[in-house]
Amino acid sequence: MQVLITGASRGIGRATAQALAPEHEVAVGYNESESAAETVVDEIQEAGGTAMAVQADVSDSAAVEEMVETTVETLGGLDAVVNNAGIADPARLTELDDDHWQRVIETNLSGAFYVTRAAMEHLQPGGDVVFVSSIGGTAGTVDTSYAASKAGLHGLTRALAREYGEDGVQVNAVAPGPAETDMNDDILAYLESVDFRGHENVDTHLPEYACEPEAVAHTIEYLLENDYVQGEIVDVNGGMQF
Ligand code: NAD
Repeated sequence: MQVLITGASRGIGRATAQALAPEHEVAVGYNESESAAETVVDEIQEAGGTAMAVQADVSDSAAVEEMVETTVETLGGLDAVVNNAGIADPARLTELDDDHWQRVIETNLSGAFYVTRAAMEHLQPGGDVVFVSSIGGTAGTVDTSYAASKAGLHGLTRALAREYGEDGVQVNAVAPGPAETDMNDDILAYLESVDFRGHENVDTHLPEYACEPEAVAHTIEYLLENDYVQGEIVDVNGGMQF
């Protein structure tokens, strides 16, 4: 299987590329961090796998089209796409100006739409789309733009599962709770700075609740390798409820 993973130079995307690489050929999507993406590619190749780095800002639909075409030409096809690239830039509602809101929505929601639209024509029966959402998309979080963008991914998941299920393409999402990545560190620092600790929706970001990125990666691997899970939002949160 040839798999394109966006935002794969670090964090959950990197763990996913490494989890998939022994069995599958992977395109390591990145935006700014070329050297980090090349490091992931080198690690995979040194372990005997096949990988390439491919650049695009996912919020730029023309760049995304090029990224998908480059992936198809280099790997010889595309069987699956993992929409992992995302940002969290928390702000209180009244401090969230239009540009800030649009940057988060354009990256997290429109970016996943652009990538999936470009990839879909290449996917064959048995192909997969996975969106990396968040517990914030179902339960909400103290971060309006992020929660809204992730809830939007749940709509994309269910709509595309209906639209493409008959073509044999599986469309699912994983909704992680906190994972130990740079993003979660940034969120924690923000929450400390605005003194939100003690609020039950906030304490779920604390390190003691967090999983390793590999826990999310292996759930994505399961979804890619299972042909009978369709239109699901799979929680990966250790049973966390809030
Ligand atoms: P991370 O910040 O380490 O990784 C995010 C990746 O997305 C980075 O490689 C970054 O370069 C890339 N990216 C950001 N903007 C981009 C753009 N415009 N174009 C292309 N790439 C871009 O964080 P992570 O925790 O590994 O996050 C991966 C995904 O998991 C995100 O969608 C995030 O929302 C989701 N998630 C993370 C957590 C968590 O606690 N870490 C929890 C739930 C969901």
